Amino acid sequence: MLCLRHLVRCVDTHVMVVSVRYHNLYYWNQMFVLTNINDSIGSHLSSTHRSQSLFKNKNLISMTEKGLYVLMPYVVKAMNKLVDIIDDEMRQINAHKISMPSIVAKDLWDISNRWEESKEELFRLTDRQKTSFCLAPTHEEVVTQLVSKTKHLSESHLPIYLYQITNKFRDEIKAKHGLLRGREFLMKDLYTFDANEEKAKETYDKVCNAYENIFKRIDLTVIKVRGSVGNIGGKYSQEFMLVSDLGEDEIYKCNVCESAFNTELIDNTDEVKCLTCNSNDLKKLNAIEVGHTFLLGTRYSHNFNANYISNDSEKSRKVFEMGCYGLGVTRILAASVEVLSQNYSIRWPKSLVPFRVCLVLPKKGSKEDVYNGTEFSLDFAKSLTNIFNEDVFIDDRTNQTIGKRLFGLQSLGFPYIIIAGKRITEEIPIFEVIDNYRNDKYFMNHLDCIKFLG
Ligand code: ATP
Ligand code: MG
Repeated sequence: MLCLRHLVRCVDTHVMVVSVRYHNLYYWNQMFVLTNINDSIGSHLSSTHRSQSLFKNKNLISMTEKGLYVLMPYVVKAMNKLVDIIDDEMRQINAHKISMPSIVAKDLWDISNRWEESKEELFRLTDRQKTSFCLAPTHEEVVTQLVSKTKHLSESHLPIYLYQITNKFRDEIKAKHGLLRGREFLMKDLYTFDANEEKAKETYDKVCNAYENIFKRIDLTVIKVRGSVGNIGGKYSQEFMLVSDLGEDEIYKCNVCESAFNTELIDNTDEVKCLTCNSNDLKKLNAIEVGHTFLLGTRYSHNFNANYISNDSEKSRKVFEMGCYGLGVTRILAASVEVLSQNYSIRWPKSLVPFRVCLVLPKKGSKEDVYNGTEFSLDFAKSLTNIFNEDVFIDDRTNQTIGKRLFGLQSLGFPYIIIAGKRITEEIPIFEVIDNYRNDKYFMNHLDCIKFLG
């Protein structure tokens, strides 16, 4: 068998350049709840809402109450990757990340008149002093009050872009499709403050562009749809929609000008015309709303007296023109699995996959194990974490045969499964590599594996 020192030497030359060393090996037996996966496959899979069935069936989420879920480590890894992509796109438009409290006083919601408006959906609570609060479903009030306190801000400080990625709370009446509609869910919300309408529109276009980049980076084809402003209010809004038969929203797409709008905007459903070009050549589609952008105008800045010192000669105070922009982080995760997966197997967008590589160790006591295959494979896996700066998943259920483990593994959506099979005992050890993107299988030594994965 090939000497490992040789392997380490070729790997080390890469390591010098890329190693940050916070990536690691993740062992099946230590990943909470990823157990008995083979037992659960095939049972209770409904053909509707695949993401919910797949996540639940593979114990990747666990419901505590209707619409409330524990996300297991495997799903959290995908979620963190999505958060990283969002943070990266926000950095590029100079948006800054903040964190606002989830418990918000009724007094603030009274200022925007939304306490009364938001009837059943608001989770309400009272503290020991009998002060009323809600669990925030969105944060326009908190962020506008924050910005209203900054009395020193002048036109030269603008625009201000503040965002957060935090849990939101809504007492949804139909919380029944897993992460697609939770009563507590992760949302990315950005709030923007500009000097005037024209600048606010520039900001709006810039943010929509960043959102389009985010969806491109996760391989989702979304369409922008004119939407209703609902109780958030404002002048104009668009929804980012993922077309899917399972979507709860209905949209019209125009066959002439390609623009699209939510059916919520239509009063008379008898003779629907395109809102942009007036054509009646429209296609009705179901879609999942994954993001929503609003040009808010001054609804909140006016009520909260949020203003800045203008650059005009009188240095007069002017209210901010605002925008707000939401992305449903957990919904995007579920929606992407929903549209990409097959019935029994999860498929993740490439950039969100929890682990790109799963390495399958030989059965304990087998010839492959006894002849150093396990040790060689583990060393190889460690090198992969260094070379590619990523975590590698190890199937260490070595009390089972490889064949038995493979079915369950395939259904978790690893793009590449590297197996230390029979040929690992050859003088130059050979791995079997399953390529789930191309639906193909190859045999390669470790150096070729590195090239292949590179
Ligand atoms: P919906 O019409 O689906 O109820 P919404 O229009 O009320 O959503 P927004 O206030 O626009 O939602 O919230 C911003 C984003 O947060 C939405 O585009 C969606 O992606 C996500 N989102 C909203 N409600 C939920 C929920 N209950 N569970 C998961 N994600 C959600
Ligand atoms: Mg919306």
